[in-house]
Amino acid sequence: MNILILGSGGREHALAWAVKQNPKTDRLIVAPGNAGIAQIAECADLDILNGADVVAFCEAQAIDFVIVGPEAPLAAGVADATRAAGILTFGPSAAAARLEASKAFTKEICDACNAPTAAYARFTAAEPARAYIRAQGAPIVVKADGLAAGKGVIVAMTLEEALDAVDDMFSGEFGSAGAEVVIEEFMSGEEASFFILTDGVNALPVGSAQDHKRVGDGDTGPNTGGMGAYSPAPVFTEALQAQVMDEIVRPTIAEMARRGTPYQGVLFAGLMIEDGRARLVEYNCRFGDPETQVLMIRLGAQALDLLLACAEGRLDEARANWAEDHALTVVMAAQGYPGEYAKGSVIGGLEALPEDSRHMLFHAGTKAVDGKITANGGRVLNVTARGESLQEARDAAYAMVDAIDWPEGFCRRDIGWRAL
Ligand code: ATP
Repeated sequence: MNILILGSGGREHALAWAVKQNPKTDRLIVAPGNAGIAQIAECADLDILNGADVVAFCEAQAIDFVIVGPEAPLAAGVADATRAAGILTFGPSAAAARLEASKAFTKEICDACNAPTAAYARFTAAEPARAYIRAQGAPIVVKADGLAAGKGVIVAMTLEEALDAVDDMFSGEFGSAGAEVVIEEFMSGEEASFFILTDGVNALPVGSAQDHKRVGDGDTGPNTGGMGAYSPAPVFTEALQAQVMDEIVRPTIAEMARRGTPYQGVLFAGLMIEDGRARLVEYNCRFGDPETQVLMIRLGAQALDLLLACAEGRLDEARANWAEDHALTVVMAAQGYPGEYAKGSVIGGLEALPEDSRHMLFHAGTKAVDGKITANGGRVLNVTARGESLQEARDAAYAMVDAIDWPEGFCRRDIGWRAL
């Protein structure tokens, strides 16, 4: 079949790598893609936020299956457009993607199905929000309702910080994302990510992971899109998985279906785990980046069969066959990230890296210039390896990092520390 993947990051490189290995794949196109993806697939210049453009491209290229990577095209209704045109699509409708696009909506769903999550209140004006914060006390969490690229959440340790956050959010700085503010109880514990495929009725767990949001070793410095990840997350035991499936995931899927907006695609549950129980922090409506890199290297070619079963409503027949191993990815970023950074530096040493089912270099912000790979973004490379143990995966990933010649780049040296 002919397959189109939308996106350009390490997540889409990992998806493309897995899909490419499946014998069902005849032609693979990624839009817009990146320099690493271009080594294994065709890349196409396409406005992936424009449903009509995507449909026209699919028709011109005889695409049989569309896989949507990032949240922005989902929130823009691209999966609705392709499905309406009769093209098999992996990814939720815009109505279902509200589980990521609106934090207040997610809370409403949790209330409706009694899913464990932080206590909260919603506000559309600053003064009552301030009064609520004063009544609750700190620590407390202040969130802009809409998508704000990870910047719309303030975990306030003091009352003052929380009150300032409310002022910032209602200042208009966040545009329509800040028109409503959700104020939540602060949850302590350990965070983990859990990924579930659902066709709207059936649910299939496809693994857990933990990522590293802060830029510096020891979880210091500013937040980033993610500096590394590993899978599985040892804290996410089978008992916890059963609790989360029973109390959070299945009830959410049933509630979405009951509302006439069934959720089809991957549900990414951000969880807080404490005293052997998990509560929901948030849902995302797409695979995580960089978590996908560690999930895909463990799933391999079967990933396509699972995504197809999901899109075709056949997940009741599907099973994920896990190798009993571990995977870890190290993000290499341009110096300065997540602040300002330069583009265009040349990355050397890539030819010598092993590339097989246990070692993969997934590209994020890269661009080929005169036959050389150059940095073209903040997060640039995802150095990914599998091992019998997490330590073995980590050693293999850092051995690859050390073989890369890129003085203008950096990475954290402690990915996996929490589990090791
Ligand atoms: P991202 O895009 O980074 O996933 P987001 O903007 O969707 O973030 P959330 O995931 O809801 O926002 O929150 C970001 C982070 O803030 C969480 O990963 C968690 O560390 C912290 N956080 C959110 N809600 C709470 C809470 N109620 N208690 C404690 N920490 C929280």
